[in-house]
Amino acid sequence: MQAPTSPELLARLVSFDTTSRLSNLPLIDFVEDYLAGYGIESRRVMDETGTKANLWATIGPDGPGGIILSGHTDVVPVDGQTWASDPFTLTERDGQLYGRGACDMKGFLASTLAAVPAMAGASLARPIHIAFSYDEEVGCLGVARLIDWLQKEAATPAYCIVGEPTLMEVVIGHKGKRSMHVTVRGLSCHSSLAPHGVNAVDYAAMMAVKLREIGARLAAEGPFDAAYDVPHSTAHTGVLIGGTALNIVPDLARLDCEFRVLPGVDADRLVEEFVGYAKNELEPQMHAISQDTGIDIDVFAGFPALDTPPDAEVTTLVRRFAGSNGDGKVAFGTEGGRFSETLGVPTIVCGPGSIEQAHKPDEFVARDQLTRCDTFLGRVVDWARAPG
Ligand SMILES: [Zn+2]
Repeated sequence: MQAPTSPELLARLVSFDTTSRLSNLPLIDFVEDYLAGYGIESRRVMDETGTKANLWATIGPDGPGGIILSGHTDVVPVDGQTWASDPFTLTERDGQLYGRGACDMKGFLASTLAAVPAMAGASLARPIHIAFSYDEEVGCLGVARLIDWLQKEAATPAYCIVGEPTLMEVVIGHKGKRSMHVTVRGLSCHSSLAPHGVNAVDYAAMMAVKLREIGARLAAEGPFDAAYDVPHSTAHTGVLIGGTALNIVPDLARLDCEFRVLPGVDADRLVEEFVGYAKNELEPQMHAISQDTGIDIDVFAGFPALDTPPDAEVTTLVRRFAGSNGDGKVAFGTEGGRFSETLGVPTIVCGPGSIEQAHKPDEFVARDQLTRCDTFLGRVVDWARAPG
């Protein structure tokens, strides 16, 4: 049987609608069967509902060392987007392969699977681990469970490559993130009696202004790293919802907001400052009218920053695979922060396609990016085969 190419495998992977809100199990079944065809056993690490799974597979010797090839299986929704062709049918136009997830990041998954026959056929001296996660796009949730499991059950790998789209450039750093839901519980009444109520929209607005103040301070005082497009940490409100009618004092409002921090900046301290403002400044004012009011802040997702030194072993190694001298830093987050910070495995981000195309209608990966990734992974296999 002819081994499938990376574009052929990408077409299969794109055909599974793995939008984060859906189960990824049909895709995981496919990958598991594919690996089994080469005699490779997979391990599933499920979510709490049993409808999503991380997949972990080791090729080569058991034991410590070797390298993780990591990617997420989920994709962002196509809702409200206008596509020139069906987003779940990979379509080629002018050397570009269009489909949801083509670039973010089923392209890397496809190249990894296309390299499996070479991995399985070689006698590897170092293990190559495949780590495919779920729910990356909604806050790197799946990989957290996978890493918990790895800490308990598996020997620690030496290196990790996260194949998020970097145009196959070597990326050593990204910011960390904390995502928060803020719920403001006020007290409703007729607007003509406004001072008798607790206006949830007003307090939500004050929380948004507080975030702006923290953001302004971070922008003015740093710390700074000029390697990032935005060279400082940021604070941002993405959603502010509240109220039902002009003549009702609103009893409920909601904010969705985030901090993104440079490596070395303590994101939890910023969250504490934000929570402290709610508890110490705003809630006493609200409680003066009614004890049943308040502000609840739920940090529902986040990931650590990635900060791999330019002279680290893993950086030198992955530069060799990529045929590049890069040491870039990117604005977007990845699962790399978790592999590096939580699991303690030196990590680099390097994968096919451009983040410019991610999450958009008519997302694509260029065919030659997949070819470059195939070459890159061929070098990974050579390295695992012949230590030295
Ligand atoms: Zn991604």
